[in-house]
Amino acid sequence: MRLAGKRALLTASGAGIGRATALAFAREGAAVVCTDIDAGALASLKEEMPAGAEVDAFVLDARDLASVKVGVERAGDIDILFNCAGWVHHGTILETTEEEWDFSFDLNVKSMWRTLTCALPGMIARGGGSVVNMSSAASSLVGAPNRALYGATKAAVIGLTKAVATDHVAQGIRCNCICPGTVESPSLENRITAQGEAVGGYDAARAAFVARQPMGRIATADEIANLALYLASDESAFTTGHAHVIDGGWSNV
Ligand code: NAD
Repeated sequence: MRLAGKRALLTASGAGIGRATALAFAREGAAVVCTDIDAGALASLKEEMPAGAEVDAFVLDARDLASVKVGVERAGDIDILFNCAGWVHHGTILETTEEEWDFSFDLNVKSMWRTLTCALPGMIARGGGSVVNMSSAASSLVGAPNRALYGATKAAVIGLTKAVATDHVAQGIRCNCICPGTVESPSLENRITAQGEAVGGYDAARAAFVARQPMGRIATADEIANLALYLASDESAFTTGHAHVIDGGWSNV
């Protein structure tokens, strides 16, 4: 049990990587506080939890400071904060609007300011903890096509991660981020369906996503959850301030 005795708060844990990570944390003995804006997804996640797991699940909107404040208070004495909330804007810089910039930075980056400012003081007072932020290979690592705005937000997450790690290393806080390539998730399904309309169907759009993967396949959410588990656990006790790439070799070519 790699997280026995630890308590974790996760944002956006109703679906995709966040959900897989909540399940992985619980399987490894953590008490998990699962949050999302989708109450139905949280209810089904609770049902999927391993028997005997300590689970709290409630609606928390990562874009709303009041909601985050209440949620962090309810979460209690957490050792692990997994900032997973984020969304993918599709398009070049010329296909972005000011509203989309504001929304994307609010959800993908400023949400982390909300959770960190609410949760970090308690973690510091208790002697430390591990923060895991969700970035992406499409960031400062890869100039992915049609990810101008998304890549800018995820590059900002890497910068924020490094700054938090530096400022709080002496207080026992570790802060790392995860940079996945393309991962099977409900949002990926939506993106493939939407892009299918432009490129001649769902299968063609899926094939285009797979074609850019050196391994010839897309990652599973469980593969990303395993990295989150490592970074959350004491197994990674000497690791902080880094962008951990898990992309099937995408950024290596
Ligand atoms: P997803 O997009 O399929 O699900 C996201 C979850 O976030 C949903 O349950 C949704 O209800 C919740 N959510 C939306 N707005 C929220 C808000 N304001 N507050 C709280 N929760 C909210 O999940 P995913 O594709 O696994 O993505 C999760 C994270 O991983 C995101 O930050 C994403 O950018 C990042 N990521 C995903 C991929 C990928 O290919 N799927 C690759 C790299 C990085």
